[in-house]
Amino acid sequence: MLDRISNYSYLDKLSKAIINDYKMVIVKTNKKGFLLSDQYISTASLDCKGKIANYSNRTIGFVNCLIMLPISSKYYVLFYNGRLTLNAFLSEKRIVELSNEDLFLLNKAILRNSYKKCIAMHEQDFNDITSFKSDCDGTTGVLVRYNNGLFSEYALKKEVFLYDADLDIFNKHLQYVSELQQFKKNHLRDISRNDLCLCGSGKKYKKCCIDKYQKSLLIYQRLKLNDSSWMCTPSECVEFPIHSFWGQKEGLSPISKDILTTEEKNSKKQTYEVNYSISP
Ligand SMILES: [Zn+2]
Repeated sequence: MLDRISNYSYLDKLSKAIINDYKMVIVKTNKKGFLLSDQYISTASLDCKGKIANYSNRTIGFVNCLIMLPISSKYYVLFYNGRLTLNAFLSEKRIVELSNEDLFLLNKAILRNSYKKCIAMHEQDFNDITSFKSDCDGTTGVLVRYNNGLFSEYALKKEVFLYDADLDIFNKHLQYVSELQQFKKNHLRDISRNDLCLCGSGKKYKKCCIDKYQKSLLIYQRLKLNDSSWMCTPSECVEFPIHSFWGQKEGLSPISKDILTTEEKNSKKQTYEVNYSISP
């Protein structure tokens, strides 16, 4: 394992990917504190489109990824590639003080990224986001596809999103695709913007769930077309080295396997499958 981790070309590509393709900002908070994950480095997907199939803590170097490195409960270094709607990132400053809302968003991702423990400097910092504790420790079985065309077997992993909307699409991707398919079957046409929304809210589709359905459809179409561009990586891609690095049969590292007890694995495991036979 150590031999693989110390593979120089992997590290070289990874650092080049981050330096060339990631933006960097130091964020600070004066009023409330950051949490610290037992994963130490927290990573979160910034957009679901390339994240249906990857290893979240091994997505460092991918597009649409946020890397959070703790310095203290007051400072974090963030490297990111992809959409970030936090106000802090819209400024050109290198050190930015976060609003409470932005801090809350980052802390949620840090908490979800943790397997067993997440610590905070002050009890209040932790209490502020404990309502999310219930959905932060599950693992998911996913199909992993690398841009060299190979598929891995199902693997237990954690998928961490910064935006709740992405989490929703990830969890309900198959449902959205099949609902679109069903609509087409019933009406012999595609859903139009002025139809009633498929979620049953009574609102027009265009004023309700159109974004998530369209995004979900895009994921499906790209998977079906075997289009690897949606999960393309920065110019110095680390995806391929990661594959050879972990190996197809080896799956999770022994460390990751030990993190969850068998009981937890059984109770918290969810299966997420991509069904290639669906044709919306
Ligand atoms: Zn809706």
